[in-house]
Amino acid sequence: MPVRQLDIKPGKKQFVSIAIVSFILLIGSGWAIVNGAEEGVSSPSFLGSYGTAVIIFEMITALLLLAQFLRTGRFTYAFLSMAYLWVALISPVQIILLTESISVVSAFHAGGTEASWLWTFWHIGFPIIIAVALSLNGSEPVVTHRPVFWAWYLYSAEIVIVALVLWLTLSGWVAFPQVVSNDNHYSHVLTEVIGPLVAFACALALLMVVFKGRFKTDIYAWLAVAMLAALCESIVAVYSGSRFSVGWYVARILSLISSSSVFIALLLNTMTLYLRVIEQNRELREIASIDKLSQLANRREFDERLKDEVKRAIRERKETSLIMLDIDFFKTFNDSYGHPAGDRCITQVAASIRKFISRPADLAARYGGEEFAVLLPNTSEQAAFELAEVIRTNIASTPFQLDDGDHVTVTASFGVASLNPTSTADGSELIKSADAALYLAKRSGRNRVQRPTQSWHFERQCQESKVEGHPELLRKH
Ligand code: GH3
Ligand code: MG
Ligand code: MG
Repeated sequence: MPVRQLDIKPGKKQFVSIAIVSFILLIGSGWAIVNGAEEGVSSPSFLGSYGTAVIIFEMITALLLLAQFLRTGRFTYAFLSMAYLWVALISPVQIILLTESISVVSAFHAGGTEASWLWTFWHIGFPIIIAVALSLNGSEPVVTHRPVFWAWYLYSAEIVIVALVLWLTLSGWVAFPQVVSNDNHYSHVLTEVIGPLVAFACALALLMVVFKGRFKTDIYAWLAVAMLAALCESIVAVYSGSRFSVGWYVARILSLISSSSVFIALLLNTMTLYLRVIEQNRELREIASIDKLSQLANRREFDERLKDEVKRAIRERKETSLIMLDIDFFKTFNDSYGHPAGDRCITQVAASIRKFISRPADLAARYGGEEFAVLLPNTSEQAAFELAEVIRTNIASTPFQLDDGDHVTVTASFGVASLNPTSTADGSELIKSADAALYLAKRSGRNRVQRPTQSWHFERQCQESKVEGHPELLRKH
């Protein structure tokens, strides 16, 4: 399937949802800026569930975006995936540090200060990687034909960088200045330098997503919401003034919206793609089994169904019948009125056949050229004979209109045969008998239905006195 066919454009409903979510984000953030400084309580259980949600959202989003990269080869998706992986790797450590200190081995002694620096790396790194991703999506996206190789390379590079960041922060090797006091209040460095810097990075990423992504796919559309939420989070965080204040909790909720919006979009996207693939598979199977000119089943489908029906007939001990029919003097028809008229004639005869095939189990097929087959499971030879007679009469009594407005009568000859369900029965036998009956119908004057009651001796006789009769019926009238 071409890549473009798999890109899902956001519809009206999505735009309305995006507008509503963005509105709620702005209103909620406005409220939190005004009331956010109010003191709250430190809730480790909230932090636990928040941390779990963030890591699950971010990890799955990273994987789904990686899948998009592997599918399309577009680097934009690779970097978007890396942005989410960045958060998935750093956020759990930061969240753990908020409630407890790490001193597992003597090399690591980390606590609240390190937590705020990890928050800074998390919140500056994420929008910067998003901005890089979008910068790779110009008028034509940058595409690689070796996405697996690049995925390994980029992911490994990122994991090394994250490991370095964590090591630098946690090892105490670099003395990071304290930006949150022991009673959880933010310093000026956090509110006047780090906060605005994070907000600036988020605003930059948001602009990139809006102007480069232009809401072209549902992923870009929901990424814009994610970046708006990240921007709001950074502003609310600065205004909240301290950890565990009301604003701080609102900022965490904004962070969850930022993590989950692309995740939900990707899930919906995957679901839509899944349904589309099922539908396309169905269409493909239909195309592969239908003859274009007659709109009946094609030979391939007929052969498969015949095999199945014979097996079923043996199992259920039921008689299966087959009608084979062939348009009379069709070569003369083509020679007289042209091939395109011949094609229309095939379509008309097929329509006559289809008109009388009503049971779902019956199958009408174009067997080849101007020859058709009708498979009738669980049908006696007599019933098949009667049906063939009805179709024959209909074909003969439906004049074919030529391009010049004149009409000609078209007829067909029919052979009917039935298969007795014995363990040795097989489909080719049924075809052979129906074909032999059709042959007899031709030899005994055409425009008739024949059963294989005649012996091979009779057939040979007919062959010897081969009727080359002039197709009177094909005369214009
Ligand atoms: P008979 O009554 O014995 O069946 O004679 P016939 O002329 O119909 O039989 P023959 O097998 O000699 O000719 C079949 C013709 O059908 C020859 C071929 O050009 C034509 N034909 C086969 N497939 C198509 C098709 O898809 N379109 C058109 N227009 N003609 C086709
Ligand atoms: Mg013919
Ligand atoms: Mg033929």
